Amino acid sequence: MQQRLAAIRHNIEQACHNVGRDASEVTLLPVSKTFDDTKVLEAAALGLRRFGENRLPDIRQRCENMPDQPFEWVMIGHAQSNKARDVARYVSELQSLDRESLAEALDKRLEQEGRTLDVLVQLKTAAEASKTGLEPAELIAFLQKLKTDYPCLQVKGLMTMATQTDDEAEVRRCFRAARLAQQQALDAGYAVHRLSMGMSQDYVLAIEEGSTELRIGSALFGHRDYA
Ligand SMILES: *Cc1c(COP(=O)(O)O)cnc(C)c1O
Repeated sequence: MQQRLAAIRHNIEQACHNVGRDASEVTLLPVSKTFDDTKVLEAAALGLRRFGENRLPDIRQRCENMPDQPFEWVMIGHAQSNKARDVARYVSELQSLDRESLAEALDKRLEQEGRTLDVLVQLKTAAEASKTGLEPAELIAFLQKLKTDYPCLQVKGLMTMATQTDDEAEVRRCFRAARLAQQQALDAGYAVHRLSMGMSQDYVLAIEEGSTELRIGSALFGHRDYA
């Protein structure tokens, strides 16, 4: 894992250098979903402590298995509104906010727990019907709604997943749509400075298109076995 991490960091630096970006602008979110706790601890020994997961029961399980570890759990998968309590209890940040009903449920629960939550709004840019997310055209109105109605949610930026394909032009199209939506929101006065995009297969393209955060699973932890 140490070698894989070094290789990823090297690639990040190289990609940043190629497009004149500073590598410190791009952070790495290791995605530990489906991997054993031992892998998480191995990553922790390399200095990582913030991890992405896509299921709330898994985050809860991690917290119960490793209660004394200073880990932060980032929710990157589709969240059901009736799981708002688990988000408020176990999650340090939610990158998959994609609809008002979820915002409403979360804000209510967070207020009860007396805390705020950092969120990214997930945009749908991919071609697949299965990918969730807010339509980019709806972003500004959604951000305004969050600002006025759901004060426990602190919007830090946007997240997107590109179409899963070898077609580089299509992947770039997705990333550019998110970057454009981010710029429009910034211009409208919303502080959406973070842009979470890029996974094991496409993170170099994502850096070239303006990503500030890469969500990387298999390139770091190895082959993922969903079974
Ligand atoms: C699984 C997952 C990732 C990481 O995928 P890899 O291809 O293993 O890097 C990133 N983002 C989301 C939303 C995911 O579900």
